Amino acid sequence: MSKVGARVLVAGAGVSGRSAAEALLAEGAAVTITDASEGRLAALSELRQRGAELCTDLAEPPAGTDLVVTSPGWRPDAPLLEAAAAAGIEVIGEIELAWRIDRASSAPAVWLAVTGTNGKTTTVGMLESILRSAGLDAVACGNVGLPAVDAVRAGHGVLAVELSSFQLHWSNTLSPHAGVVLNLADDHLDWHGSLHAYGLAKSAVYRGNLCSVYNADDEASTMLAEKYATASSVGITTGEPVGGQLGLVGEELRDLAFPRDGADESASTPLAEVSDVRQVGTHNLSNALAACALARSHGVAPAACSSGLRDFAPGEHRSVVVGEADEVIYIDDSKATNPHAASAALRAHSGVVWIAGGLLKGADVDELVRTHARRFLAVVLIGTDSGLIADSLRRNAPDVPVVSVPPEHESAMSEAVRLAAARAEPGSAVVLAPAAASMDMYTDYAHRGQEFTDSVRALLAESAVDP
Ligand code: ADP
Repeated sequence: MSKVGARVLVAGAGVSGRSAAEALLAEGAAVTITDASEGRLAALSELRQRGAELCTDLAEPPAGTDLVVTSPGWRPDAPLLEAAAAAGIEVIGEIELAWRIDRASSAPAVWLAVTGTNGKTTTVGMLESILRSAGLDAVACGNVGLPAVDAVRAGHGVLAVELSSFQLHWSNTLSPHAGVVLNLADDHLDWHGSLHAYGLAKSAVYRGNLCSVYNADDEASTMLAEKYATASSVGITTGEPVGGQLGLVGEELRDLAFPRDGADESASTPLAEVSDVRQVGTHNLSNALAACALARSHGVAPAACSSGLRDFAPGEHRSVVVGEADEVIYIDDSKATNPHAASAALRAHSGVVWIAGGLLKGADVDELVRTHARRFLAVVLIGTDSGLIADSLRRNAPDVPVVSVPPEHESAMSEAVRLAAARAEPGSAVVLAPAAASMDMYTDYAHRGQEFTDSVRALLAESAVDP
C-alpha cells in the first residue's frame, strides 16, 4: 500500500511526470497519467505494462482518485486541477512527492534548497561540487535536470535541490534543512498573477528550515527572510560581512556566520579566494557565497568550499567567454532570458556592445536600459520585441547608437555579431544577454547561444586570415 496515495493521477507526461509515475508504481499506487499530447503519452507506453493507465485530456480525475501529482508548468486554473480542487482532492507537485517518499524512508536525505529569479542552476552546481569535495554523497536535482524523486530513490545522502516558483507552489509540506532565495525580480508574473504571489511561492523554501539563507544585497530576498524564515538566518553579501553573514573581505570569501572550533568568534573564517570562482561577474560571487552558506549550514569545512568552487564547471551560455580578438572579448549569456539576468551580465563590463532581443514576455526594460546606458558603445537588436527595446533606448539612452537586424534576415545572429564587432573598441566586450526568451527564432536559449558562439568563431577565423 502506497505511503503517499492509493489511487493517484499524474497530470503531465513530461520528464518529472514520468519519474513521479515510476515512483508511485514502485510504491504500489494505482496510477493514471494524463496529458494533452498523444505523443508525450506514447513515450510512456511501457508504463502501461507496469499497470499505469494512460489517458489523453481528462476533464476530471477518475473516480476514487485521492491525490493528483501535477507537472510544475500547469497553472492552478487548469480545468483538470480546478476539478480536482472542487472534488476535495489534494494536488501536489513531483518535488512534494519526492519529499513525502523521502520522509517515509528509513534513511531520509538532507535537503539544501535553492530558489530565486536568477542564478539557481549555477548555485546548485557550485553547491554540489562543494559537497562532493567534502566527500559527501551529494547530487544536484530538481529543476536542474535529475528529477528530485529519482534522486531520492537513488538514496543520495545530500540533495542540492533547484526549485522553481512553480515547483514551490505545488509543495505544501516540503521543509528543506536549509534554503536560500537568491533574488527576486519580475518574471513568470503571467503564471503567478502578481509579484506578491510569486514571492509567496518562493518563500516556501524557508518552511521548517534549520538554517535560512538570504541575500543581504537583494531587498526582496531580505524581506522574504525577515517575514518567512523559520530558523536563524544567515546573510550573504558581496560587500564586507557583518556578524551572521558570509561576504567578501579583499580578495577572499569569508564566513562570519558559522563558528569554527577553537576560533575567535569575532574573526571571520576564510573560505575561498575570489579567483577560485571561475565565472565572471559579481553575481557569480553572490552565487558562490550562497552555495558556501548552504554547505556550511551542513557542517562542510572551509577547505571544501575553495576546492569545490575551483572544480565547478559552469553551465554553457551563462556569461561564458567564447572568443577574443583585438582586445575585445565576446560573451555568451544567452541564458539571460529576463532583464534582471541581463543586468547582472552587463554589469561585469565597463564598455559593452549589447546584443539583445527576443520575446520580452511582458517584461519592462526601462530600468535595465537606464542602469547600463553609460556602458553601451552600441546596441544591436534581434527578434520579435526589438521594437520595444529600441523605444526604451530612444527614451532612456538617446545617445547610444542602435541597429536592428531585420527579422527576415536569413542568418540574423551572424549579422548581429558582425554589426557588433564593427562597433566594439579595444578593452570592451560584445555581450549577448538578450533579456528575453528565445522561442521566436530558436528552439531554446542553448540554440541561440550556440548560433552566437558559432558566429563569433566564424567571424574571428575570417578576420584572422584577412591580410
Ligand atoms: P537560473 O537557473 O535561475 O535560470 P542560471 O544559473 O542558469 O539561473 O543563470 C541564468 C542567467 O542569470 C545567467 O546567465 C546570468 O545572466 C544570470 N544570473 C546568474 N546568477 C545571477 C544572480 N545571482 N543575479 C542575477 N543574475 C544572475
